[in-house]
Amino acid sequence: MKTVNANYFDGLSALQQAVALNIAQGQLEVRGEKLIRAEPLSNIRISAKLGSAPRLLNFAGGGHCEVNNHADFEALLRDAGVLPQSLLSRMEGSWRHALTATVLSIVIAIASFYWGLPWVANIAAGRIPDSVSLSIDTHFLDAVDKGLVQASQLSQARQKKLRKRFDNLRAMHGLPPHQLEFRSSKVIGANAFALPGGTVVVTDQLIALASNDEEVLAVLAHELGHVSERHPMRQLLQSSVVGLAMTWYLGDISSLLAAAPTMLLETNYSRNFERRADRYAASMLRENGIAPARLADMLEKLEKSHRGAVKESGEQPSRIARFLSTHPDTAERIRDLRGDGSRQ
Ligand SMILES: [Zn+2]
Repeated sequence: MKTVNANYFDGLSALQQAVALNIAQGQLEVRGEKLIRAEPLSNIRISAKLGSAPRLLNFAGGGHCEVNNHADFEALLRDAGVLPQSLLSRMEGSWRHALTATVLSIVIAIASFYWGLPWVANIAAGRIPDSVSLSIDTHFLDAVDKGLVQASQLSQARQKKLRKRFDNLRAMHGLPPHQLEFRSSKVIGANAFALPGGTVVVTDQLIALASNDEEVLAVLAHELGHVSERHPMRQLLQSSVVGLAMTWYLGDISSLLAAAPTMLLETNYSRNFERRADRYAASMLRENGIAPARLADMLEKLEKSHRGAVKESGEQPSRIARFLSTHPDTAERIRDLRGDGSRQ
């Protein structure tokens, strides 16, 4: 028979007696050298487990036992079918479990943010109707036209020529028509970006930086790579969720609405998104008889141009100016694109 060692105090004297505890048929049996006592469990108040402090078993009729061997005592209670503590409180009793639970919660929160959120955003991005995506683009362009960018200085003939080549590029690849917009901007400088609805915007400054149309097309093909995988929409949805959470916390929706247009420009795509867009562009360019190395050439020029702009102004690059330029992976991307080109 399983027993647990304990000390018994009769409540009348300070004398302690070594006893063995056992539970049988709902009764706690206390056996010592000069003592045999049996009490129904319902008459005994058992103290909660507090670290390594002894558990106290107080008898309704006076007297108590002190138990130091926690593990054996709990095994005894379990064997008898008595579980005065829930699993949760037993877990709380142990700092190791508490620590594990805390670490686990943090890991789950981080995992939801890094994997759960992009996963949901990816699914949601595929379900947004075209009409909604296009109206987001219109809203975006309206907002940036009010300050961030100005009308393009490019001649209509030049715009028409580039639009035609852009159309050929995506048609050869079986991509549905996408809008190409020209703008000028000192703030964002030489730049190109895709909007959630698939509209691609390119600045006069980027076109001026390019040595030829093929370099411009290489950048546009890269942006179409983002469009084909819905990167801008996914990014917008993800930032919106974070933005909405912040808004809920701060209780002010106007700041979210005001920030929405620049949200896309300010967010750098992940390394993975950039590489996928590069790979997409490389294949699109090859189909059109353009070497993927043209994209590498442009990445190099963009990086130099933004670095120069930073030096000139003596200021830290704004987050917008860093777009597509000083990403630490740029050198690696350039190497890969050049390798791609030489295999042709
Ligand atoms: Zn990109």
